[in-house]
Amino acid sequence: MRIILLGSPGAGKGTLAAEIERKYPVAHISTGDIFRENVKNNTPLGLEARAFLDSGRLVPDDIVIAMMEDRLREPDCEKGFILDGFPRTVPQAEALEKILEELDLKLDGVVLLDVDEETVVRRLSGRRVCRNCGAIYNLFFRPSSKGDLCEKCGGEVYQREDDREEVVRSRLKVFYEQTAPLIDFYGEKHTLSRLAADRSGRHHSLLEDLERAVGISE
Ligand code: AMP
Repeated sequence: MRIILLGSPGAGKGTLAAEIERKYPVAHISTGDIFRENVKNNTPLGLEARAFLDSGRLVPDDIVIAMMEDRLREPDCEKGFILDGFPRTVPQAEALEKILEELDLKLDGVVLLDVDEETVVRRLSGRRVCRNCGAIYNLFFRPSSKGDLCEKCGGEVYQREDDREEVVRSRLKVFYEQTAPLIDFYGEKHTLSRLAADRSGRHHSLLEDLERAVGISE
């Protein structure tokens, strides 16, 4: 299974990718997670990327593309992969086509998670993360019963720098300007499936919708 998840920040790509990874033998590749890990560990890549992440701007294409060229050649990608947060620009999508061609691989599907803008702002600006175990809470939808401490491990629950409301608004602007053109890019080249990703009023899980959309099952 080789799938691209497209969608604005806060559309739920990471959550869905984690669900797919639990059920199927695939590598979940989140460029945002890779950058955050590098920032945390003060690696050269992290030092380069940090200011972009904190301000909600995109890391320059050449850096992202070089990183993904290496990542997609790692052995765990042979079982299949879900790309979460890459590509995010047309040049990145073109570079991905080239890498896949070189590796003689084809995509099974491109899935767009559709969510309205205000839902995204509440999801992201309300999101709080445990510094210790990574558990995710939301001030509006699912606060920690222990306030600023994590229910699971007692760690400090904090707000990601790029989840501050003004940064969320600029991340959304970046999405509409730089990433939304990929909807046409993939609409022309591959079958693009559009899934309604607002959770309220859903009859079945997003994972079931995705399985139907790309024709996979256990
Ligand atoms: P995410 O967790 O996917 O929202 O990504 C967090 C941040 O990482 C983004 O706001 C960008 O600064 C950076 N980032 C992640 N993926 C990419 C990408 N494909 N191209 C450029 N920047 C990226």
